[in-house]
Amino acid sequence: MPTGSAQAQVKSVAQYIEQVRALANRADVKAANDYIDRNHESIMREWIAITEINAPSGQEHQRAKYLESLLRKYHLDDIHYDSVGNLVAVRKGTGGGPVIVFDAHMDTVFQPGLQIKATVRDGRIYAPGIGDDTRNIEALLATLRALNEAKIKTKGDLVFVFTVEEETTFRGVKNYVKENKGKIDQYIALDGGYEGFTYAGIGINWYRHHFIGPGGHTRSQTPPYSASLPLARAIERIYQLKVPMRPSSNLNIGMLGGSEVVNAKASDAWFTIDLRSTSNEVIADLEKQIQIILNEEAARVGMKVKTEVISSAPAAVIPGHRESYLVRMAEAVHRVMGFEPPITNAGSNNSSAALLAGISSISTGAGPCDGAHSLAENCEIEPLYKGIKKVMLLEVALAGVE
Ligand SMILES: [Zn+2]
Repeated sequence: MPTGSAQAQVKSVAQYIEQVRALANRADVKAANDYIDRNHESIMREWIAITEINAPSGQEHQRAKYLESLLRKYHLDDIHYDSVGNLVAVRKGTGGGPVIVFDAHMDTVFQPGLQIKATVRDGRIYAPGIGDDTRNIEALLATLRALNEAKIKTKGDLVFVFTVEEETTFRGVKNYVKENKGKIDQYIALDGGYEGFTYAGIGINWYRHHFIGPGGHTRSQTPPYSASLPLARAIERIYQLKVPMRPSSNLNIGMLGGSEVVNAKASDAWFTIDLRSTSNEVIADLEKQIQIILNEEAARVGMKVKTEVISSAPAAVIPGHRESYLVRMAEAVHRVMGFEPPITNAGSNNSSAALLAGISSISTGAGPCDGAHSLAENCEIEPLYKGIKKVMLLEVALAGVE
């Protein structure tokens, strides 16, 4: 296991800071940074051009083709689509280094056919998808050009993966990780973020609980009651449960339903729970307590409980990962770039799939944006250039240079 062997020689953050600072002072790394500074205008134009190709989950093809046409100019060692449509580009190292994957997702949450036209105003770009996740796609492309321009050869391989279906099922990353497990040393998901990064993923579990009773007319003998009664009692009790803040956890009952008409008792009353935690133990414990409440309230009125799991994703946690090589090195890179990085464990993006496969992974991003998943989405322009430099420094620090 690459992660395990790296773990054995993990140095302190201070030592990595020294290492990264030396790296940042190399003439070739400075030349790569200069390239980014000389090309603000063209980076911004390309960022907008990619954003204006809408790419709803499952319909990333047109955007992928455009990215492919750009990548073809960069003298890469391999460019291909995998079996689910992820676009993969490999910049081989000189040898003897690790394999580092950087990803950004191509898909957006916006409906097919939406015409996207970016506007630039007050130092910001406004366009749906400009941030999530196009800013990070553009960051990867810009770092590739900068590395080439400065003739930087890394020791390890840099693999750039532009994934499909992050916003829906994570099908892209799941497939990539499954097909390449054992060949990846570190996995960096670029999604959201700017100043800080995440090193673990939050577990997200959605359920629909039903109380099933006999139903009946309003004027039928009562009891039996409408199934809405145990539902109300259960919801009240579930909200009394202690949901810890540490580890970070949340519980929300957002949807409910009962009879379709006013003059009938509900024979099927249901509600949803959105249960999240960075700890799988907390999730398991709350699930158990909720089940007890449901069973007690059903028994009290002679009804049955039926539970559907709408979707379920465990917390993505590697024990000791906070103190791993990758996390400390990433912290060092952020600090050398002048950030005071928030380092958190509640990510919800492609990096979870890598972590669940046992691959050391973080998620971060290249610029500050607002309003993700809304038509009012916008990003600050100026910080992106610093964010691109950060991503490049991370690439070079992790893959190593001669
Ligand atoms: Zn995203």
